[in-house]
Amino acid sequence: MDNNQYYFDAYFEFIKYVDDKIKDLEKKHSKDIVCNKGCSSCCLDTTILPIEFFSIVSILKDKISPEITKESCAMLKNSLCQIYEFRPLICRTHGLPLAYGEDEDPLSKSITFCDMNFTKRIPVFNSKNILDMDELNIELVRLNEKFVKSFGKELPERIDLKEIVNYL
Ligand code: SF4
Repeated sequence: MDNNQYYFDAYFEFIKYVDDKIKDLEKKHSKDIVCNKGCSSCCLDTTILPIEFFSIVSILKDKISPEITKESCAMLKNSLCQIYEFRPLICRTHGLPLAYGEDEDPLSKSITFCDMNFTKRIPVFNSKNILDMDELNIELVRLNEKFVKSFGKELPERIDLKEIVNYL
């Protein structure tokens, strides 16, 4: 088996774990979250870690040929994400209540969300209705470190997402 594939599989397993959490949150906040297809307010050009970049390249290969556009994120075309199913972690979290901060107690963390959501009311946030970004980022960095170590060639710390078109 391609050695990299081991790391890509671990990354996609992690993304599945994140997606399950996101689905649960979307259900819990369904009355307060207005994110929908065609809204690209959170979409900006971004850089991602090598493990994300090469995992996305591996799954897009021979499937999708996105084109670079001049929209706020170069992966947007007519306000729709060309790689939506395979978008990186940061894109998956758009709009949701995201908790950041060292403190174990979710109420002591700083919680952010898109201004277009939670306009009628802000629920009481707790560990079960927020996405703990520190937990997710720690795991992502851990996966990235292992991948970078095994890659054999030097890699940049982060890679511009739109560079994927040069690898497909
Ligand atoms: S990759 Fe897709 S979801 Fe992520 S910012 Fe770009 S257009 Fe938006």
